[in-house]
Amino acid sequence: MPATRSLVISGPCSAETEEQVMTTAKALAARGVKIYRAGIWKPRTKPGGFEGVGAAGLPWLQRVQKELGMLVATEVATAKHVEECLAHGIDILWIGARTSANPFSVQEIADALKGVDIPVLIKNPVNPDLELWIGAIERLQGAGIHRIGVIHRGFSSFDKKIYRNLPQWHIPIELHRRMPDLPMFCDPSHIGGKRELIAPLSQQAMDLNFDGLIIESHCTPDKAWSDAEQQVTPDILSYIISLLVIRDTIQTTESLSELRRQIDEVDNELLATIAKRMRISKEIGQYKKEHSMSILQAARYDEIIEKGVIQGGLMGLSSDFMKKLLVAIHEESVRVQMDIMGQK
Ligand code: PEP
Ligand code: MN
Repeated sequence: MPATRSLVISGPCSAETEEQVMTTAKALAARGVKIYRAGIWKPRTKPGGFEGVGAAGLPWLQRVQKELGMLVATEVATAKHVEECLAHGIDILWIGARTSANPFSVQEIADALKGVDIPVLIKNPVNPDLELWIGAIERLQGAGIHRIGVIHRGFSSFDKKIYRNLPQWHIPIELHRRMPDLPMFCDPSHIGGKRELIAPLSQQAMDLNFDGLIIESHCTPDKAWSDAEQQVTPDILSYIISLLVIRDTIQTTESLSELRRQIDEVDNELLATIAKRMRISKEIGQYKKEHSMSILQAARYDEIIEKGVIQGGLMGLSSDFMKKLLVAIHEESVRVQMDIMGQK
């Protein structure tokens, strides 16, 4: 696998049989994947689906560790799952989206992990609630877990048109702003829900500076017992990773600093122009006061907005942006004039 910024975790949605676990892991290891994922206990939306092989699959993951030297990761949803994983030396645990939406379950997992030093990845809750996601992180931190990462796997919605789970990128971005030290992974398999979306979503995640990806891969995806439509062969996975473009996060080129200098200059001019406009507005306020005119002259307001939107459009600025800008400027003008009116 080529050198990338991203850390790739890959493996099947579910561990199905010992053979499927080993065949998939061997193919992934041969393509440079170092961390293997496989669901042992599967939270299914409806009863009757494949609910995972359970603890019987843990020794298979131990084989992956011993024979292939990979780290292994699986999902835990209860204290019992945690105990069984710890008893089998699983390297990394993750908390699934349905579980992180439930503070009782997260607390139960946190309590079971008190005093244990193991990395835990916390998926976003199914609903787009950043505070709930942060709450789950804080519960794990409260239990003394210090190697915590997060996984963005999208948010469920009634309307599943393109994505299985809407990306709503602003939520993980805001999480990163609030907790900048947490490594962030993106799970394009569960966001997209289909193979063809894995590559573009992975690229978007890289462009947004995510630290890594967790992608479902299966030796025979079409025959997978869960999430068949979104799994890819280890070969395809490797191809997808090889196509990723990792852009530098720190810009050091001189041309960029020159452009930034120009932006600063234009911003200064812009501020000076706005301040000048407000001074004129003040004078108009004075005039209106002396002639007992009302501040808001509706026709004039409409004219300014309309003219500005047309002019801005000719200069390549969107009408939406122009409206917002002119309304904000006008609001500040009105405030300035109200101050004048209020003065003796
Ligand atoms: C999974 O990783 O297979 C899984 C069940 O994911 P999520 O919790 O994001 O639905
Ligand atoms: Mn899955």
